[in-house]
Formats: sequence, structure tokens, C-alpha cells
Amino acid sequence: MKIDSAEAIVTGAARGLGRYFALALAREGARVIAADINPAGLRSLKSEAADLPGTLTVATVDITNESEVTAFVDTAARELAGLNVLLNNAGILRDGALVTAEADGIRRLPLLQWSKVVDVNLTGQFLMAREVASRMLERKVQGGVIVNISSLARSGNVGQSNYSASKAGLDACTRTWALELASHGIRVGGVAPGVIDTPILDGISGEALEALLRAIPLGRIGTPDEVWQAVRFILGCDFFTGRTIEVDGGASMG
Ligand code: NAD
Repeated sequence: MKIDSAEAIVTGAARGLGRYFALALAREGARVIAADINPAGLRSLKSEAADLPGTLTVATVDITNESEVTAFVDTAARELAGLNVLLNNAGILRDGALVTAEADGIRRLPLLQWSKVVDVNLTGQFLMAREVASRMLERKVQGGVIVNISSLARSGNVGQSNYSASKAGLDACTRTWALELASHGIRVGGVAPGVIDTPILDGISGEALEALLRAIPLGRIGTPDEVWQAVRFILGCDFFTGRTIEVDGGASMG
């Protein structure tokens, strides 16, 4: 796929990686619909994209709400007649250990803290992929691409059982959907970033960040552009499907 022929939905686009991807696509001439639950972030994204060669419109959507997702993708598919790209990017962290021994007893990870993360990072991605893939099939779009944004934490990380499980599940979906959709000419790939400089890191303490840095062979955190390079590769390489690319400064090497 050539980037300037992309007609793309990007989720979680109000800030961080999604915002970077949406702007990068529009900069290269793509037509983009940027979706998020944060209307203020979307408004500022829209004005930032105003002079770019492509087009960028915005939509307030909660990817965990099935009827909202269905209505949104219906509208998006009317706006983008050749809808051929989904960057399935929105994701959240709500870290906490399974159980913790505290002075006044054992603290257990609340069910809500578990399910909120799984709802956004796994069920939300499933709903978006299902709706976009179904429009691609209806229209017999050839060369469609879905990119799932996973994480280094997919192989497990202390304090992140909810997040790790959601990202490992998403990886399994990348392989499954790639197999299911290949005969329809649709590719599915994943990118597993390590620690990347976005607002998601604001919730991590300086001490925890130091520990993360020590585990990165290249000795620094990554940039959104470095993750975009991998997304761009997946979009551009028509023989790539079913795999997740790690962009983590070597952290996943162990
Ligand atoms: P971020 O917190 O900066 O941005 C996430 C965006 O998703 C926000 O704009 C938020 O409003 C949106 N969002 C949250 N819930 C939503 C919902 N229900 N519906 C629609 N939008 C919703 O995070 P980021 O760092 O840009 O992360 C983007 C993706 O990359 C996530 O899937 C994250 O897990 C993954 N990731 C990030 C890092 C990192 O270090 N930044 C590392 C590995 C993976």
C-alpha cells in the first residue's frame, strides 16, 4: 500500500502515539478519521492537521461501547468510501499487583481495575477490528490493513497482569485475524513498543522509570516516530501479515 492511498481510522488519536500516527498519515497525503474519547484533544489535533496535504476529521468514540463503535464505523465508511486502514491504537494502564501484603492486610487487585483495562485494550480493539473488517469485506476492499498496537509487556510484567493479559490477547488476535482475513486480501500486523515518550508515562514514578531504563539495552526511551516507522513498514509491505514487530530498544531480548 502507498501511504497516500490510505483511508484510515486511527483510535486513541487525541494524544500520544495515535495523535502522531494520524498526523504522520495526513502529512503523507492519507485521508484520516481520528477517534478518541477526548474531544478537546481531538479539536486541537484537527487544527494542527489543517494545512497538511491529506485530510483529517475527528470523532468522539468510546471503543468499548458496541453501539457507538458500530455507528461510528458506519459513518466513517460513508466518509471514506475506500476505508482500507485501521490503526487499532487506543489503550490504557491501570497498574496493580495481583495481591499485595500491606500492614493492615492483603490488598487484592479489584475486578474493576482488571476489567477496565481488558475492556479497552482487548474488547475495544476487537469491536473496532470486527466493524472495520466487515465493511472491508462488504466492499471487497483489496489490500486492507489492520495494525494492532501491543506492548513489550505482552510477555508479562510486574504490576501489570491486566495490561499484559490484554496485550498478549491482542497479539493472539493479530495472528488469528491475519489467518482469517488473508483470503479476503486483508493483512493484520502488530507493533509492540517498549517505553515510548508519550503522556501515558506520566503515571509512572521516577523510580519505576529508572528501573525500566536499566532494562533497555539502548539505554533510552523511544520516540513516537520510531514506532511510526514500524507501523509505516506494515502498511507499506504487502507481503507482511500475522506478526508483531518489537520496537523497544532491545528490551524484549531479555
Ligand atoms: P496515551 O495515554 O498517551 O494515549 C492513549 C489515547 O487513547 C488517549 O488519547 C485516550 O483518550 C485514548 N483512549 C483511552 N480509552 C479510550 C476509549 N475507551 N476509546 C477511545 N479512545 C480511548 O497512550 P500512548 O502512549 O499513546 O499509547 C498508545 C498505545 O500504545 C496504547 O495501546 C498503549 O498501550 C501502547 N503502548 C504505549 C507505550 C508507551 O510507552 N507509550 C508502550 C507500549 C505500548
